[in-house]
Amino acid sequence: MKLYNTLTRKKQAFKPLKKGSARLYTCGPTVYHYAHIGNLRSYVFADVLERTLAFEGFAVKRVMNITDVGHLTSDADSGEDKVEREAKKEKKSVWDVSRFYADAFFRDCAELNIKKPSRVVRATDTVKDQIKLIQLLFKKGYAYETEQAVYFDISRCKAYGKLSGQSLEEKRVAARGEVVEDPDKRHPADFALWFKRAGRHKNHAMHWASPWGDGFPGWHIECSAISSKYLGQPFDIHTGGIDHIGTHHTNEIAQSEAAYGKPLAKVWMHNEYLVIDRAKMSKSKGAFITLADAKKRGFEPLAFRYLALTTHYRSQLHFSWESLGAAQRALQNLWEEITRTRTAKKSKSADSYLKKFKQRLSDDLDTPRALAVLWEAAKDPGLDQKSLLSFIKQADATLGLDLIKQSKRLAREQSSIPASIKERAEERWKLKKMKEFGKSDKIRLTLAKRGYEIQDQEQGYAIKRVKNQ
Ligand code: AMP
Ligand code: ZN
Repeated sequence: MKLYNTLTRKKQAFKPLKKGSARLYTCGPTVYHYAHIGNLRSYVFADVLERTLAFEGFAVKRVMNITDVGHLTSDADSGEDKVEREAKKEKKSVWDVSRFYADAFFRDCAELNIKKPSRVVRATDTVKDQIKLIQLLFKKGYAYETEQAVYFDISRCKAYGKLSGQSLEEKRVAARGEVVEDPDKRHPADFALWFKRAGRHKNHAMHWASPWGDGFPGWHIECSAISSKYLGQPFDIHTGGIDHIGTHHTNEIAQSEAAYGKPLAKVWMHNEYLVIDRAKMSKSKGAFITLADAKKRGFEPLAFRYLALTTHYRSQLHFSWESLGAAQRALQNLWEEITRTRTAKKSKSADSYLKKFKQRLSDDLDTPRALAVLWEAAKDPGLDQKSLLSFIKQADATLGLDLIKQSKRLAREQSSIPASIKERAEERWKLKKMKEFGKSDKIRLTLAKRGYEIQDQEQGYAIKRVKNQ
């Protein structure tokens, strides 16, 4: 299996650190708002990665954090804590806000068939571990304290920009535009390990005692503490969106590698953005779409999952309602295609499709091309029914599109259609093929009045019972 590693900028054969197992860490959501479909794209990608590794025979352990403290409105430590700001706005407690949005996130994930990682850990449940890690960084000379906070000294890190390729000087220039709210910070890009409940954070609602006074952890330290606690260091694969490369993941690497003197993760994988009108979808910009918005417009959640799979995770996913509509139709057609009974006299096995499918996925999770193989198989009239279904079942273990479940539902629906309706539909199809459109349309109308819709497809038609009839 080959995976693209952001760290080496190459596609490489995946070799686990421990034979037969794969240990993964995914940066979880910041729970101050509903996840938008861009965030969800990121978790569909991590889910496909987990499922593909399992399909390849690895025993997968995946850990994910929930950021419920310390992520400020700017990734570069300025502004307010996102959860605290939302709590003030909604006049709720910070705990209620983070619990509410974390629950909403997991409901979205369930509807998208995104498996819950083996372990999900809230940042606020590991503050003690984070404090210990900061103490270790002090001991090793990587941390310093000011009146407002404790910082990581990035100038002590020779390979600070190895993930992004950005030099320390470039980072300094980039950070110049940021609002530096602490005059005692040594380098503008030094990042907070701990914020004191002082100055601009003096009223911070979430706070814990620490050797540096009452306060709360910075954003990055939670991922370093949680990953080493539950996966050890190094572990195999770390995932997240590309926006995490320059700051969050760079800082995770800096602090974890400084503390333990060994690499944090072997492979770093990043999904590209979901974009709308060429701009990154983003929670802070307000104009974003949630899964609930899509459902309100009548879309099946899995239509979004299908759409996400039609684009490689390292390419931008251009979202529009039209593209989601096309994905929904394609998925429905795929479900229907699978239910079609195959009656070829000399049927063949689907093994060659399975082999091709595996090759595509193990080539850095090439889901668009894996889907193409699935379609080819579903449309192949010469395939043995049983063999096709066995292939579909295996393929769906990685794609998570409910292929068997939904096609069974459709088959049940089909079998409940009265024979008289089926006969009339067949008659209409024959007339249509003979280009007797007037007559065929008339039958279609009569059937519609009786509550059955005929949908023409590439190689036939489907009869649907129309709801509310
Ligand atoms: P957040 O809740 O902001 O911490 O983000 C959760 C995950 O979504 C992170 O891995 C981000 O990198 C990712 N992400 C944020 N915006 C997008 C987007 N527009 N497209 C794809 N992934 C995104
Ligand atoms: Zn993280």
